[in-house]
Amino acid sequence: MKYVSTRGQAPVLSFEEAMLTGLARDGGLYVPETVPTMSADEIAGLAGLSYEEVAFKVMRPFIGEEFTDRELEACIRHAYAGFGHAARAPIKQLAANHFLLELFHGPTLAFKDFAMQLIGHLFQTALEKRGEKITIVGATSGDTGSAAIEAFRGLDNVDVFILFPHGRVSDVQRRQMTTPVEGNVHALAVDGDFDDCQARLKDMFNHFEFRDAVGLAGVNSINWARVLAQVVYYFTSAVSLGAPHRKVSFTVPTGNFGDIFAGYIAREMGLPIEKLVIATNQNDILHRTLETGVYAKAGVTPSISPSMDIQVSSNFERALFDAYGRDGAVVAKQMEDLANGEFKISQGAMEFLREVFNSGRASEDETRAAIKDVHDETGEVICPHSAVGVKVAKEHLGAVPMITLATAHPAKFPDAVKEACGMDAPLPGRMSDLFEREERVTRVPNDLTAIETLIHNRTGR
Ligand SMILES: *Cc1c(COP(=O)(O)O)cnc(C)c1O
Repeated sequence: MKYVSTRGQAPVLSFEEAMLTGLARDGGLYVPETVPTMSADEIAGLAGLSYEEVAFKVMRPFIGEEFTDRELEACIRHAYAGFGHAARAPIKQLAANHFLLELFHGPTLAFKDFAMQLIGHLFQTALEKRGEKITIVGATSGDTGSAAIEAFRGLDNVDVFILFPHGRVSDVQRRQMTTPVEGNVHALAVDGDFDDCQARLKDMFNHFEFRDAVGLAGVNSINWARVLAQVVYYFTSAVSLGAPHRKVSFTVPTGNFGDIFAGYIAREMGLPIEKLVIATNQNDILHRTLETGVYAKAGVTPSISPSMDIQVSSNFERALFDAYGRDGAVVAKQMEDLANGEFKISQGAMEFLREVFNSGRASEDETRAAIKDVHDETGEVICPHSAVGVKVAKEHLGAVPMITLATAHPAKFPDAVKEACGMDAPLPGRMSDLFEREERVTRVPNDLTAIETLIHNRTGR
């Protein structure tokens, strides 16, 4: 299996190389040269298997020879062993034909754990064999950072630096990043918003001298291995509702477009998905893009679903690449235009996107109302991100069962939840002392040189 860049100018890589690299050297994102498919019989054969067994069958064809079957099996087994639910990704019914896929039973209580725990083990396996050390730098709107730290803390051949927007993540999110005691963990509070953090990260990847000196590796949702790990729960949930004999649709609370792009890959592999519905909060660039065909940046307005407070959805580039018939030059040109604020998507490409994706948005009031409605109707307490999904999903219910992804545990956002439905959302027992642990964080300006200097000093490379 080979991986190519969405901008067509970077070297073709193996799975392991693409995973260790993250962002392609031409600024693009790696995607598989061809997407392997599963027949209806193979999909039907997933019924009744464990999450780990489905994960192996779905991911194996993408991974290639660098990992043996035994190594991959071991990575998958270790990745999900620490989850607080035997099903890993259990499904709950909300109403007739509407289901909630709970993706928050991992160690940091958000769906990011599904991918990050796995790639922690894949990185470790690969680096031990290669005898190499790397520096992981990630940008986070809250949940990626804690998931990455949890996955890489204490590993010998990895230093992990996480950039998060100062003052714009929840207390639980921040403490999950600032309280680990391992010396290889570095939480950096940036004076800026999430897009600034993401932009500085991209700058570091495009600064090849720095990139090579510190052995820079990226684990943001642009990392192909993360997208791949997320494909699995589309299969387990769809099969549990009757796929391949019955179609399903998904609604996905969306920020960087990584999670929903995994659904697109599942669909390409042959899973009978009718529609993938993009649910955005008031930062609704993707919803506007689907409506108007113009991808136009606007400022980020902080919301009660902060992990979706994003304007530049990096993974959208992967969908564009397919929408333009995999023409890297066209994608590169559009991304160049984006530097000036916006680009216009061709009619053909828009038709391609609208065939697969629908979209909707939820305002702050609508998000709070959705938390309250779900609690009134079912007794379940959901987080604000999941509530954005539920609100938008309700607008797209039909004959086909709808699965809404519940992306975080309500305890990560207790204030918003309490305000919306009056309920406390306690942390699970295994992290109930989070607020007693000591914090360790470095405040940094939104400045590339300052951040690079700090990383040089801390790693000694
Ligand atoms: C990261 C995140 C999202 C957005 O996922 P993308 O893959 O960036 O679209 C939604 N909800 C929560 C809780 C998250 O942590």
